[in-house]
Amino acid sequence: MSGNKRAVFKSDLDFCPECGTVLPLPGLQDLVSCKKCQYEIRVEEFDGIEINSTIIFNEADMKEAASEIKTEKELKGPMADKKCTQCGNDGMVYSTMQTRSADEGQTVFYTCPKCLHQEIEYS
Ligand SMILES: [Zn+2]
Ligand SMILES: [Zn+2]
Repeated sequence: MSGNKRAVFKSDLDFCPECGTVLPLPGLQDLVSCKKCQYEIRVEEFDGIEINSTIIFNEADMKEAASEIKTEKELKGPMADKKCTQCGNDGMVYSTMQTRSADEGQTVFYTCPKCLHQEIEYS
């Protein structure tokens, strides 16, 4: 038993990346091998895997949120009586978004349905 060492690793990292089988917890050896497919992982890589996957997850999350604002939300919104400064199209689709601090008011996003030019106004 090595109770101290076990606490260092997160439980969700104890799965084989190859076949998903629960891996034996790293003990005294530097290598953990999957009982099912023989995939071997160096114990020191566990930390790296955790850090990388955390960062990727957060970035993907933010990109997803950002693209949602640009593509769907604004083009489906109501039309504002505003001329596109880029192509001169009359009317831009707008949507509002509450900024982080409540006393700053709303941020208004305008998107030209013709050329997709975007303008942001802070009210
Ligand atoms: Zn495996
Ligand atoms: Zn335009």
